[in-house]
Amino acid sequence: MCTIQNQLLPKKMMLLLTALFLFETTCSDKESESFAAISVRDTTGTIVFRNVQIVDVEQGTLEGPVDVLIDSQKIMAIGADLEAPSGAVVIDCSEKYLMPGLADMHTHVNYENDLLPYVANGVTTILNMGSPSNILSMRDQVNSGGLLGPTIYAGAFVDGTGNRGWIVQTTGAARSAVGDIKEQGWDFIKVYNSIQTDVFLALMDEAQIKNIPVIGHGVRAPGIKRIIQEGQSMIAHAEEYIYAYFNYSNDASKIPDAVNDTKTSGAYVTTTLSAYRVIMKQWGKPSGRDALLAVDEIQYVDPRWITSWQNSGAYIYNQGNLDDNYHFQQQFVKAFHDGGIPLLAGTDSPTIPGGIPGFMIHDDLAELEKCGISRKDVLKIATMNAGNFIAKTKQDEMPFGKIQTGYRADLLLLNQNPLIDLKHLKNRAGVMVRGHWLSEEELSIRMTELAANFK
Ligand SMILES: [Zn+2]
Repeated sequence: MCTIQNQLLPKKMMLLLTALFLFETTCSDKESESFAAISVRDTTGTIVFRNVQIVDVEQGTLEGPVDVLIDSQKIMAIGADLEAPSGAVVIDCSEKYLMPGLADMHTHVNYENDLLPYVANGVTTILNMGSPSNILSMRDQVNSGGLLGPTIYAGAFVDGTGNRGWIVQTTGAARSAVGDIKEQGWDFIKVYNSIQTDVFLALMDEAQIKNIPVIGHGVRAPGIKRIIQEGQSMIAHAEEYIYAYFNYSNDASKIPDAVNDTKTSGAYVTTTLSAYRVIMKQWGKPSGRDALLAVDEIQYVDPRWITSWQNSGAYIYNQGNLDDNYHFQQQFVKAFHDGGIPLLAGTDSPTIPGGIPGFMIHDDLAELEKCGISRKDVLKIATMNAGNFIAKTKQDEMPFGKIQTGYRADLLLLNQNPLIDLKHLKNRAGVMVRGHWLSEEELSIRMTELAANFK
């Protein structure tokens, strides 16, 4: 557990220090009162991580021990024996590991209650791929510090049929949807399956004019090869390749073409293999879904999700099994990675019954490792690749995904080295999100409170 050196601290910082330290010392009632009085919104400030081992996710090496100075939500300095500014909180991190926060680049957050479990699992960035009407205000509240959560990037859902988001069936409707989406301040356009080719092309053209990136499914009519050529910058599931590139054939001889086309286009691929696994577990099996809803972590899921999961007929009445598709995805995901296609981690949580927000990121990283991707590359996929993707698609964003001066202070402090075992990502001393430090003890209290509110 981290220890905190006592400097000459102003009173507010002393309160903060008490909060950070509460469960490392014997709790008195007085301290508990102090803790209750502290809001996480107040825990920004200048913080120095002292004597920490930095996990270099690019090289897969450790650097340290060094000091890392945080201020104004940013990494301000990295070096040996940094002088702590007056009033700084100094966290002694001997034998601890500091790495960039994780990014879940495929979520469907819908309620404020969904946010904390991401942070508590080390997820400091999410890309929300649906378009609930409240997500933009949630995003802005997180940005302004009024709401504790990962940094949110929000995609606006567009399809050619159905009743979700924007439905576009003509080129004119596509252009006008892009105008609305841009004006409302969405970060991305998320396309879904059923947009006709001419409509998709108009949408993409208008999106390029209006400078808003397009991501999402493998739109069936034009197909993946075409949409990534036209500039779609991310395919949201590996599974989409089966439908919109390989024509349901699972033909491994076509993998090199898929690698080549995707690499040439510069598109990223979010594999969401964890989501596929959750679907497999309940495919044709009501008992499989029951088992998914019986796990301990379910206590942290908003009851409105649980009700919708229980009432959903999705997957449990299907026939057959998905094993071949799953193994084929593992095969081409590895080939994509080896071929230099940048992958992203993503879970599709909490939209699939049993897809537990936050916790599921660890399953996703385990799935990537099971494909044969090295641990160091999995860590890079979950951090730096997400930062690179946002830097490529959006202007004026604070860079993130690396421990580097000027980068957003999204950090995990771990008790064990994650390069040795990805399970060590769950052995945390704390999480810093946008410069807000939350010790594991504070996160655990907040999670307990969240679960208690659901009862
Ligand atoms: Zn999704």
